[in-house]
This record gives sequence, C-alpha cells and structure tokens, in this order.
Amino acid sequence: MHKIQMVDLQRQYEQIKSEIDKGIEDVIKTSTFINGPAVKEFTENLTIYTGVKHVIPCANGTDALQIALMALGLKPGDEVITPSFTFIATVEVVALLGLTPVFVDVDKDTFTINTASLEQAITDKTKAIIPVHLYGQCSNMDAILTVANKHNIAVIEDNAQSIGGSYINESGSRKTGTMGIVSCISFFPSKNLGAYGDAGVILTNDDTLAHTMQKICNHGSERRYYHEIVGVNSRLDSIQAAVLNVKLKYLDKYCDKRREVAAFYNEVFSSNPHIITPYEPEYSHHVYHQYTMILEGVNRDEVHAELANIGIPSMIYYPVPCHKQEMFKELKAREYSLPNTEYLTARVLSLPIHTELTEEELVFITNGVSEVINKLTHR
Ligand SMILES: *Cc1c(COP(=O)(O)O)cnc(C)c1O
Repeated sequence: MHKIQMVDLQRQYEQIKSEIDKGIEDVIKTSTFINGPAVKEFTENLTIYTGVKHVIPCANGTDALQIALMALGLKPGDEVITPSFTFIATVEVVALLGLTPVFVDVDKDTFTINTASLEQAITDKTKAIIPVHLYGQCSNMDAILTVANKHNIAVIEDNAQSIGGSYINESGSRKTGTMGIVSCISFFPSKNLGAYGDAGVILTNDDTLAHTMQKICNHGSERRYYHEIVGVNSRLDSIQAAVLNVKLKYLDKYCDKRREVAAFYNEVFSSNPHIITPYEPEYSHHVYHQYTMILEGVNRDEVHAELANIGIPSMIYYPVPCHKQEMFKELKAREYSLPNTEYLTARVLSLPIHTELTEEELVFITNGVSEVINKLTHR
C-alpha cells in the first residue's frame, strides 16, 4: 500500500502526466511565461464552467480577496464581517487594508456562517460580508443575501475551498462563487482545483468592478506606464494556467471522487458514538475539500497523535480561531464570545481525502480511526 497522505498530488499527476507535461512544455517552448495564451484559454474555460461574466486571473487566493476589497472602495474604519472559523487569509486582508474585521460565529453542523449572528453584527459601518464556503460546503446564501441586500452590504464569497460545489434552492442549482458581487478562488496545490504552485482568480458579473479589479492586478494601469489608481502586481503564471487548464476538465470527476470518499467514511463512522460526521444541508452540494469530523467524548489531540503513530495522517483545520490570533489582539478580538467556533476548534479533525484513495486505503484508515478511538475511550 502507498504511504497515505492527506492529499496525494503525485499519484494524481501520474494519471494526467502527458497532458500536463505538454501544457507546461508549450509555455516554455514559446516563452509565453507572463499573460500567455494559456492564461487566456484557462480564464475562458473557467468563464464557461462557472457561467460568470468576468474571470480575472491573479496570483493566489489571498490576493483575490485583497483585490476584491480594494475594488469595492472600502475605507479605513469600514467594517467587514467574516466568520472567525476560517483560514487566516480571509481576515488578514481585511486588517491589511485598514478595515475592521468583525467576527461572527458559525453553525456547529455546517461549519459556515451563522446567519442570525450575522444580522446582529451589522452596524452602520458594515460595508461587506465575506461568507466562507468552508471545507467544500456552500454557505446558506439565500439567508446571507437577504440580510446583505436589506442593509445594502456587499457579499464577497471566499470560495477558496469550494470550487465545484453548489447551492440549491427552489429556483435550481447555482455554483459556489457565482452568487456574491465578487468571489475569490484559490488554486493552491491542495485545493480541489490545484495548480502546481500559487494561483487564483476573482469572479464577478459586474462590469465596472471587473474593470477596476483588472486594473488593480496590473499596478492600477490599463495603458502601459500610465497608472490611474494604486494597485498591486498580481498575475496568474502561464505555467500554472496550463496546469489548471488540464485539471479543470477533470474537476467535476475529482469532486465526485471526493464525495465517494466522504460517503465511505460516513457509512463506517455513522454508528460510532464518538464521531459526528459532516452534515450536508439540503441547499448544499458539498465537494469535500476536507472531510472533517467532530470528535465527542475523546481527546481530539490524542486521536490525532495516535493516528500519526500508525501511519494515518490527520489535520486540525483550524486549531486557533481568527479572533484569538495574536495578530488581532489590538482589536480587542478576545472579548468575542463565539461558542460554536470555540467548540469546533477544540474538536474537529480532518482525515485524508483526495482523488486517488483506494478502497484498501479507506478500509485501513477507517479501521485505524475506530481502533484508536476505541482504545482511548476504554482506558
Ligand atoms: C486557501 C485559502 C485562502 C487563500 O488562498 P491562497 O491561494 O493560499 O492565497 C483563502 N481563504 C481560504 C478559506 C482558504 O482556504
């Protein structure tokens, strides 16, 4: 059996090696490293895949969030609401731009923003909400958009972890990242659609915003050496675009495979009293960027350590909520009371999930998890 990894990109590469190698070679042979045809081709294909009018390539998912906030013209002191239970990038860019992050709690079952707390957190300074589609699960977008529209607040979807997922209601199914005024995607190698380095995009249907974001990505310029606004240098590398162009074709298949892995885990763990398996509400087509369980009545950190001892990797996403991070101590962030966030940071554990896991490996993992929990609860 292969050494089990959280994500096995090497085995995935072996399946698509000839296409990937050709894509990379084309970029090198033509020396079209920056803004080459591969970038254009990928953005066009992603436009078709998402159905969104504008796909703006950039260097990574963190930049995507920063550029979206810059383009919305927010001013220092403006408040931006985010969940505290997320990867730090979501909030870091808010602080970096001199905006004020306002943290809200998540739901214990979906891991996404709690819409009741969202409404309570709104003040006359609130200018944007960043719902995070965490672990591959779409946030409750109808509820979020209703609150946002009522108060005239921009919604920026942090779709870094959930490309391929969707939101379902009476009027049908919409892809994650197509519902806010802007949305941000990361192609970090381990994400559901992963490049072989850093990469990202920003999506919007708004022409004016698209235009501004394009300019910001390019040093605030449209015409070379004429700079109208302060921007950044944030480009999607042509080599990464070539890789993404190949992998985009397989994205839906990859998401299906992740769902199969999750279904396997769910089936085995649903009868274990110490494991709460991930919940998939009716409105969400989950794409399991992570398979994250909640452990009850057993010490999560001990399970994590014991699993490592028997060759089963697991990860804690995320051990410290954003509102308790040292970087936010000035914000009096520590006075927040976010019980679900604190409950989850102490109990979540993510298991290996990727597109190449075999049944043999899944059996090995599930047996290992059950044995470790059994051992720790019968001491
Ligand atoms: C990965 C991630 C980001 C940042 O993406 P990078 O490409 O690593 O900059 C932002 N938000 C969330 C929720 C993420 O998981």
